[in-house]
Amino acid sequence: MLPTPTTASSDARAAPPRFHLLAKPSGSTCNLDCTYCFFLSKEALYPNDASRMSEATLEAYLVQLLEAHRTPEVTVAWQGGEPTLMGLDFFRRSVELVDRYKGPDQQIEYTMQTNGVLLDDQWCAFLRQHNFLVGLSVDGPPAMHDTYRVNRGGQGTHRQVMKGLATLRRHDVDVNILCTVNAANADHGAQVYRFFRDELGAEFMQFIPIVERATAQTLPLANQGWSERPGGERLLYTQTGSLVTERSVGGEQYGRFLVDIYEEWLRGDVGTVFVQLFDVTLQAYFGQYSLCIHAPICGTALALEHNGDLYSCDHYVEPNYLLGNIHDRPMLDLVASPQQREFGKHKRDSLTAQCRSCDVLRLCNGGCPKDRFVTSRDGEEGHNYLCDGLYHFYTHTQPTMTAMAQLIHQGSYADEIMTRIAADDAKRGRNDPCPCDNGTKFKNCHGAPGRRR
Ligand code: SF4
Ligand code: SF4
Repeated sequence: MLPTPTTASSDARAAPPRFHLLAKPSGSTCNLDCTYCFFLSKEALYPNDASRMSEATLEAYLVQLLEAHRTPEVTVAWQGGEPTLMGLDFFRRSVELVDRYKGPDQQIEYTMQTNGVLLDDQWCAFLRQHNFLVGLSVDGPPAMHDTYRVNRGGQGTHRQVMKGLATLRRHDVDVNILCTVNAANADHGAQVYRFFRDELGAEFMQFIPIVERATAQTLPLANQGWSERPGGERLLYTQTGSLVTERSVGGEQYGRFLVDIYEEWLRGDVGTVFVQLFDVTLQAYFGQYSLCIHAPICGTALALEHNGDLYSCDHYVEPNYLLGNIHDRPMLDLVASPQQREFGKHKRDSLTAQCRSCDVLRLCNGGCPKDRFVTSRDGEEGHNYLCDGLYHFYTHTQPTMTAMAQLIHQGSYADEIMTRIAADDAKRGRNDPCPCDNGTKFKNCHGAPGRRR
């Protein structure tokens, strides 16, 4: 059956040539029960629903996604919940459909975010065959990972995830480690980073702060987690409240975590290990923004539910941000709708005065609107909860990022910065304060012999 209307209206002329859409074929359904995962609570939006993308929705989605792009590159991105719960045949079918409908010049990039637990040889052979980039969720070494990334029986999942990773490696699948920054690992940035780099052989990694909002009323329940509890009340997570759960990372703490990793990275890994925020920050020195969170405006990172409902953003899968259903209205119209354009511009237009006069605004751009729920220094509502950490990160990295940007500008490679850092370190006294500014001596921190590669 050929899916749904694809004739776009005049709104479509305002559509971005390319956008990013996270499709959730199994809705928010997951085989794990990570305590901080408020996405689990989104099941409450579709009660009595099997949360499985039908063949008709799959076809409508892919046809419309391909039609809506005016660039040759199209990303087909799957996430959840846990997308592997759909079974391999669903993804085989999705690739067949893409092959059938893609234009002669269209190049498809497949991505999938997974907890890795169900990945076996069959899965990994398929992922390799179609060049999937797999985002694998790992929160660090076993004890840190297992604090919140647990199964439905409350057991840690690190061992199972490592098994999935080993299978991915055996099949030579490209892997990006996705690590949340939470109360359990936030004080151990370099340790987490070294684990990924040295134990897992990771070359690509991404750090995502856990900020779970709550009100005074919802906090006690929110602190228990977001999954369904037998006979218990269940909250639907929405972006409301100015409090955070005890699992959330602190604002300043987030900045220290990033700087701890950055100082380690500068001393041996520039050009060989890719940390998303570091790359994105360097791009911002050239006026380029590839990550919505630190771009001046957003609105080009949408989320598609299993039944074809399209939302403004994966962080705003809630009734007020539902744009419509792709079975009723073409995706392109929804992406280009005034509602979505307003959503994107609101990021810039709602900056606090503190942000507008901030000396790192062109790098930070106020962060993600979902995190703007505290008061600014001047008492203005709607300031970013992570501001202290973001400010610390951007100001701390400014001299070396500027130097790397200059190197690139001159036609050199950014990794030459490591020679300069080594020369600076050679002049540094062992008892001098560590340049990561955490108050410890260099010899016991980023200058410790065991920490060097
Ligand atoms: S709300 Fe945040 S995560 Fe969503 S598109 Fe905007 S910046 Fe990105
Ligand atoms: S560092 Fe803070 S004040 Fe500066 S732009 Fe970012 S959120 Fe706004």
